[in-house]
Amino acid sequence: MGATPLAQEGSRNIGPVILLGPPGAGKGTQAKRIAERYGIPQISTGDILRNNVQGGTELGVQAKAIMARGELVPDELVCNMVADRLRDQDCERGFILDGFPRTPAQAGWLDAFFEHQLVTGGEHCLPIVIRMDVDYNQLIRRITGRKTCTAPGQHIYNVYFQPPRVDNLCDIDGSTLVTRNDDREEVIRKRLQEYERQTRPVADYYQQKGRLISLNGDLPVDEVTQNMFYVIEHHP
Ligand code: AMP
Repeated sequence: MGATPLAQEGSRNIGPVILLGPPGAGKGTQAKRIAERYGIPQISTGDILRNNVQGGTELGVQAKAIMARGELVPDELVCNMVADRLRDQDCERGFILDGFPRTPAQAGWLDAFFEHQLVTGGEHCLPIVIRMDVDYNQLIRRITGRKTCTAPGQHIYNVYFQPPRVDNLCDIDGSTLVTRNDDREEVIRKRLQEYERQTRPVADYYQQKGRLISLNGDLPVDEVTQNMFYVIEHHP
């Protein structure tokens, strides 16, 4: 099974895929690869919020300080934002949620959203829920080494594991690479605490429903991708 897009994968319905895992697990990197292979959009709530902060929208103004502290943005704001995005036409064949749901309330909201879609004549949406498990020390290196490009593709590098060919420049579009504002050490600690306190129970929520698939996120990035493709393609 290669990583090149398959013609038939661009036409059939996929997912939705939900990627769970702590900050730095590699959700963004894997979500981009899944998006490319199956021709479905990556919906990263973190990216959408950062775009709103950058654009100075009302949502961005509300979220900015909360994100800078490494805390979670209130459920209602995030759920409304996701609802808007999921109504876009490019989500019809499927989508990947990266960074959502992050609280049990968001998970409950999402189930109700899928249920409503079904009632209103949409497709049956039973998500493929994949959690990436990563060793704590590895996580810290992944977060502290992370650099993101400033172009719309938001390509991700890691100075330890996946350095760009030229220091601080994106291989793909040549834009400058930056460290995210919330990837600083004191904020990272808070984000990991928030994960333990609010997001780990989301995995328990899906586990109780028999829908959680755990993957070893410590493996080399290409192997993790292959395992993701396998899970997606063999999901009932
Ligand atoms: P991420 O890029 O997924 O690490 O998200 C960056 C930040 O955006 C988080 O630390 C939160 O402040 C906020 N955020 C992203 N997704 C959510 C979500 N589903 N619920 C609440 N806050 C979120």
